[in-house]
Amino acid sequence: MKRVAIFPGSFDPFTKGHEDIVLRGLKIFDEIVIGMGYNSQKANRYFEIEYMEEKINDTFRDVPEVSVMVYNELTASLASKIGASAILRGLRNTTDFEYENSISQVNRDLNEKLETIFLITSPELAAVNSSIIREVHRYGGDVQKYLPYTL
Ligand code: ADP
Repeated sequence: MKRVAIFPGSFDPFTKGHEDIVLRGLKIFDEIVIGMGYNSQKANRYFEIEYMEEKINDTFRDVPEVSVMVYNELTASLASKIGASAILRGLRNTTDFEYENSISQVNRDLNEKLETIFLITSPELAAVNSSIIREVHRYGGDVQKYLPYTL
């Protein structure tokens, strides 16, 4: 049986921090599906979802174990639909921990077969943060070094 994990997030934009979690996740999972969700608070994206999907596909074009999909439902339901036994998430700091702690418990309530696996960020990428990248980009700053693809 293939071990499949879903890596859910907004990925607005997808960063080198996200790429690192996916590549390290492949040491544990046979396949990783990057699930780009429309979530209610983040309906107004900065980078269009189709554009980001294309950039993520570019990033992993030589890694067939990684795919990307856009979804608009509970992560727990998507996981059962695609046969994923785990959710993969990255942890940078205690703020991430507080949020992830509750959401992982809710996800397991919704789908008791679903475990969330956390990878601690690589120290050199701990400060890479999608919302800061959006701000820098909005005001014309160069964000290319934080991204694994060319904007
Ligand atoms: P969400 O809106 O669900 O928080 P994000 O796109 O911001 O989605 O992040 C998706 C996942 O990637 C989260 O688990 C987040 O903690 C993790 N992540 C984001 N940036 C980094 C980073 N620099 N290093 C490790 N994990 C990260």
